[in-house]
Order: sequence, then structure tokens, then C-alpha cells
Amino acid sequence: MPTMPGTFRPRGMPTRQEQSRDYDRRRGSASERGYDHRWTKASIGYRRSHPLCVGCEAVGRVTATEVVDHVVPHKGDSRLFWHRDNWQSACGWHHDVVKQRLELMWQRGEIEAADLHLSSAVAMRVTRDLDPSI
Ligand SMILES: [Zn+2]
Repeated sequence: MPTMPGTFRPRGMPTRQEQSRDYDRRRGSASERGYDHRWTKASIGYRRSHPLCVGCEAVGRVTATEVVDHVVPHKGDSRLFWHRDNWQSACGWHHDVVKQRLELMWQRGEIEAADLHLSSAVAMRVTRDLDPSI
């Protein structure tokens, strides 16, 4: 929009151009919020249909799902992020402790991507190693 002739702009106030840059920045963060909202909705739906932690279930324990985990870490890759086959239901402990251990092993090349499933044989071994009471 053209500046109105004679428009008074106090010193230090942003120009229209600067204001529109600010608006774009805010719009960017708003779309990021939309992305978060979309994930919140999707993960609530997933938890509803997958109410139990797959890692606990694999070792005969019944624990409610707290987190929808990405089997292969998405690292910002939206294809991996939104692919439901890359999602698994996890309790907080499996997500925060067991999965972290598995991802470390995977990064070191010690295990395959398939072993990142919390119900894999490797994950079950790690689960039992980390919690001998199981
Ligand atoms: Zn669990």
C-alpha cells in the first residue's frame, strides 16, 4: 500500500516496509503454531487408538501411552515426521530413557533402524537391562 502523502511518521517508528517485515515474521511463527496444533491433534488421535506403550507391552507390562514417539528420529524431515508408520506409542520412561539409549546405539551403527521399534528384540533387551525388575 502506498504511503499517504503527508503521513507523519515519528522518528524511530518503523516504516511500512519494516512493519510488513515484522508481520511476515509473526506470520511465520503463527504457521509454526499451526504445525504444533496439527501435531497435537494428530498425536491425541493416535494415542486414543494406541493407548498402551508398545515397549512395556512387549515385556508384558501394561502402561498408558504418554508420548507418540518417532521410530526413526525425524530431525525436521516432514515426511518422517508425519508418516504414521514411523510413529509408536510410548510411556514417558520408554520415550525418555529406553529410546534415547536405542537412538545412541543406532547413531553409532550398532543397531538397525528397525531395532528402534520399542517392541524389537534389541529394545526388549535394553528395557530389561535398564529395569531389572521386569
Ligand atoms: Zn513403556
